[in-house]
Amino acid sequence: MRDIILIAPPAAGKGTQSKLLQEKYHIPHISTGDLLRAATNEQSELGDIIRKTMETGALVTDDIVLRLLEERISKDDCKNGYILDGFPRNINQAESYLKLLEKLNRPLGDVIYLDASKDITKKRIVGRLSCPTCGAVYNDQIEDNKPKMFGTCDLCHGALSKRKDDNEETFEKRYQTFMNETYPLINYFRSKGCLYTVGSGISKERTFSEIEKIINRG
Ligand code: AMP
Repeated sequence: MRDIILIAPPAAGKGTQSKLLQEKYHIPHISTGDLLRAATNEQSELGDIIRKTMETGALVTDDIVLRLLEERISKDDCKNGYILDGFPRNINQAESYLKLLEKLNRPLGDVIYLDASKDITKKRIVGRLSCPTCGAVYNDQIEDNKPKMFGTCDLCHGALSKRKDDNEETFEKRYQTFMNETYPLINYFRSKGCLYTVGSGISKERTFSEIEKIINRG
C-alpha cells in the first residue's frame, strides 16, 4: 500500500481519518504531534523546550521533529505503509522528508489535503475533548458529537480531558502558522503530481469514503 500523508488545518480531521485508515488498512498512524507530546513526558531539557513551544501553538524545530520521525518510520511495523498526520508542516520539512525517503529507498505515496473552513475547524478545536484511557474524541460545541454524560467517555466511562493547546487564542496562532508555513505545501506537492484534495467539512464518513476512492484508485 502507498504511504499516505494527510495535510490539513488544525482540527480538519487528520486524527479522526488517520484512526479510520489505521483500523481498516492495518497500517500505523504516525502523528508528529503525538510523538512530540510523548517526548514532553520525559523529564529532560529537550522535553521542556518541546512543551513550551507546543503550548504557544508555534512549530517545534525541524531537526527535533525529523529525528523523532526517522526513528519512528524505520520501525518494522511501517514496512507495509503508514499514515503520516501532522508532517510535513513546512517546505523545509518536506524537502528533508524527500531526502529521508531516498535514504530509506521508499516512494513518496499519496498526499491528501483535507480542506475545511476556518469557522468549522475553530468550533472543533475549542470544543474538543478526548478520553486519555481509550482515545475516543468528543466535542461539547457540536451537537451530535457531545458525550452522553458531561465530561465522561461514552465507551469506557473515563474522565474526558482537554488538550492544553485547544483554546481560542492558540487556535488563532495555529491557524496562522498553518496558512503561513503549511499551506504552501499544497502547491509544492501538486507540482510533484501526488496531491489529492478532499473536502472535510461535512461528515467524517463522507471524508473517509472520498479518501478511500483515492487510495483504491488502482
Ligand atoms: P498536532 O497534534 O498535529 O495538532 O500538533 C500539535 C503541536 O505539535 C503543533 O501546534 C506544533 O507545536 C507541534 N507539531 C506537530 N507536528 C509538528 C511538525 N511536523 N513540525 C513542528 N511542530 C509540530
